[in-house]
Amino acid sequence: MKFLLQNISETVIMLLEIMFKLSKEVITLSQNNSKLVVKKEFCKGCGICVEFCPKKVLTMENGKVKIADIERCIKCGLCELRCPDYAIFLGGNDDEQ
Ligand code: SF4
Ligand code: SF4
Repeated sequence: MKFLLQNISETVIMLLEIMFKLSKEVITLSQNNSKLVVKKEFCKGCGICVEFCPKKVLTMENGKVKIADIERCIKCGLCELRCPDYAIFLGGNDDEQ
């Protein structure tokens, strides 16, 4: 019984990890290889990041933020700073690809 429960919990954790990875969008900047990460499951579609982005990198699509043109990003960090839900940020770990 203990073995069965352990297997179930490991399977649930694995499924949650897969869902988490599938639900985010990672863009690599071509010039300096840094990243802008959007966690769409956290995005409530308020549009604050879109309004504050000085380079019009971001837009809204189907109630979620979308990266419209990553090449315009100057890595100012305003989107990360202003997002109330921690749904968008610069950088990220190497395993977030
Ligand atoms: S880091 Fe700055 S330029 Fe890049 S998407 Fe965020 S607000 Fe826009
Ligand atoms: S500020 Fe955050 S929650 Fe609002 S649209 Fe942008 S990423 Fe989504």
